[in-house]
This record gives sequence, structure tokens and C-alpha cells, in this order.
Amino acid sequence: MTGEDRRQELLEGALRLLTLGLTAGLSGNLSLASGDGIWITPSGMPYPELVIDDLVWVARDGSQVTGRRRPSVELGMHLACYRADGGIGAVVHAHPTAVIALAMLGEGLPCVSDSLAGALGGGVPCLAYEPSASQALAEAVGEAAGAHPAMILASHGLVTTGPSLTAAIDLALLVERTADSYLRARAVGRPNELSAETAASRRRFVAERYGQGPQGRP
Ligand SMILES: [Zn+2]
Repeated sequence: MTGEDRRQELLEGALRLLTLGLTAGLSGNLSLASGDGIWITPSGMPYPELVIDDLVWVARDGSQVTGRRRPSVELGMHLACYRADGGIGAVVHAHPTAVIALAMLGEGLPCVSDSLAGALGGGVPCLAYEPSASQALAEAVGEAAGAHPAMILASHGLVTTGPSLTAAIDLALLVERTADSYLRARAVGRPNELSAETAASRRRFVAERYGQGPQGRP
């Protein structure tokens, strides 16, 4: 895939994030891995107005930044994720409303649904508050990213990672929808949490059996 294809993919992902209601206005940022660097969305620009040349290329070690725009102020957080796990192909940071409700409570999302267990094999942790765009936030996310593809940032929002941008956005949508249902359930009762054993078994099932496999095999 050429650099232009990757950039087009990133633009389409940014619009999808907006269309799905996972973020609004100028908030949130996305990146995807490309060779020895990453493509990342620019700081403070409306997604619908972005064109390919607004995207910024940054070396994985942060030493080189190329583009006519300034990169997202959360660049450090994105780079920390790629450093934490070489298998990460994309990082999404969004501000979805139900996740933010949990973030305001300083709570993670327990493993309360079969879908969440299948995707993650457990719940989503809430990382202690650090100011947005700070080095401390980048370090905290980097420390958790190797073990957790989804992380709630206290009083702030959500970070998800995945092998592809589609996977990272799909995971953000799943976490937001589950958070929304969880809060509704909590309003009227006490949601049941799946055991760690069940969650791990559902994760294995999805990894081994769900979907069409790499070559369309069952
Ligand atoms: Zn944010």
C-alpha cells in the first residue's frame, strides 16, 4: 500500500469516527503505522475539512516530523502505544459520551458482556488522571498499552489500538456501546460481571473460531 493509500485510509477513518458519534468537533485524533513512522491527524482541524496533505508523518522515535501542519498534541501518547507493542497498526483517541461518564467517575468498564469478553478477554481499565497532551499521560498510556488494547483516561476519554485502523475504531465503538448499556443497567440494578475464566475462554473462541480466518477459511 502506498503512502497516499495509507493517508486516504486515515482520512476515511477520521470521518468514520465522527459519523459514528465517537467524537465531536475538533476533539480526538487518529494515527496508523507506516514503515518506520506513523501518519497522524493534525492538531485542531475539523475532520470533514482535512485533505491528504494535512496529515503529518512522524518517525517512530519522534525525531522527524514532516508535513505542512502541526501534529496532534497527543502525538506522544500515540508514539508510546507503538513503542509498547510492535504489533499495533493504529491508535485511536476519542471522546465518546458514555465512556466519558465512566471516566468522570474514575471507573473502568468491567467485563459485563459476551461481546466485550470476546474482543478483550476482560474489562477496560481506567488510567489515573494526567492532563491531556502531557508527557505523564503519554507515559501512563504507554505503560498500559502493551496489555490493554482499550484504555479509559480518567476525566478525559478513550484510547484504543488495533492491528488496523478499522479494528481500532471498531473496538472504540464496542467499548462505547458497552459502556452505554452498562450505565443503563447500573441505573436500575447491579450488572453481572463475567468471570476471568469465562472472559478468557470467550476471547480464545473469537480468536480461533470467529469470522472467516486469514484466507477465508472457516
Ligand atoms: Zn482527548
